[in-house]
Amino acid sequence: MKERLRQLQQDALSALKQADDLNVLQNVRVKILGKKGSLTEVMKGMRDLSAEERPIIGNLVNTLKDLFENYFIDRQLELQQRDVAARLANEKIDVTLPGRKTVSGNLHPVTLVTNEVVEIFSRLGFAVAEGPEIEQDFYNFEALNIPKDHPARDMQDTFYIKDDQVLRTHTSPVQIRTMLEHKPPVRIIAPGTVYRRDSDITHSPMFHQVEGFLVDDKVTFGDLKGVLTHFLNEYFGQGHKVRFRPSFFPFTEPSAEVDIECVICGGKGCRVCGKTGWLEILGCGMIDPEVFRSVNYDVEKYSGFAFGMGLERIAMLKYGVNDLRLFFDNDLRFLKQF
Ligand SMILES: [Zn+2]
Repeated sequence: MKERLRQLQQDALSALKQADDLNVLQNVRVKILGKKGSLTEVMKGMRDLSAEERPIIGNLVNTLKDLFENYFIDRQLELQQRDVAARLANEKIDVTLPGRKTVSGNLHPVTLVTNEVVEIFSRLGFAVAEGPEIEQDFYNFEALNIPKDHPARDMQDTFYIKDDQVLRTHTSPVQIRTMLEHKPPVRIIAPGTVYRRDSDITHSPMFHQVEGFLVDDKVTFGDLKGVLTHFLNEYFGQGHKVRFRPSFFPFTEPSAEVDIECVICGGKGCRVCGKTGWLEILGCGMIDPEVFRSVNYDVEKYSGFAFGMGLERIAMLKYGVNDLRLFFDNDLRFLKQF
């Protein structure tokens, strides 16, 4: 009997040791300690033993039972820990993996310039106004002192939709629309898209203008000079000389063109300023009384000034872009630079 128990101990311990996963281990345990397990069988056979042998073998069997139980628990723990470690290793998050970048766009340079111009004038109390791009002849020409037979119509290569309907050639019709709706004082800045039949390195059939005007009692040319000089200093930086040259526009009298000392060469003369040292920036003037008459403003009581400029042109000067068409090619390599 002792010999049988010794053999059983050896087989059982080796089987427990070899069990390489928790299911196998559980099966081994059943085979030894279960109802029909090998140790259980031994215990059943004890009734056949003599009275002297019974307590000795009983003791031995109990010791073996404890030994197996302990061994089983240790092995079970060992296998559980191994499984947990394996799972942790498998499910580890690799924090060194590079993240996915969010692609963000940026504002178009013409939009950036528009926003900046609007902001400068907003600080002076100008409000933003807009008008339609398909415009009636009346607002685009007639009310701005450009009657049908006026030679000034040749200055603007117009896209006609019908006889009396055009793609607006400038943002000036917003003046008319605003003044018909509001009595003075008015202070308006009106950015927008305009259209002309023209295309080369400084012209595009579609481009952007900003129109500004102010009407009140006793507005003078001095106010015009002050506002525009302030704007140019804010936009291009302080210290550039500004000059006003007499010019002609049908809707202003007197009219002027405004030049700034070349921001590229500082007035010495370069390719951008055509060696003159000056850059043409905008057109302006005192609003012609004829325009006031077409919107029923009292020409004796009110006076005002108006100005307009091309936004692509001032964007070109600000960012050193030499071909206006680049703004409309939608080449991301170009647009990403702003
Ligand atoms: Zn220059």
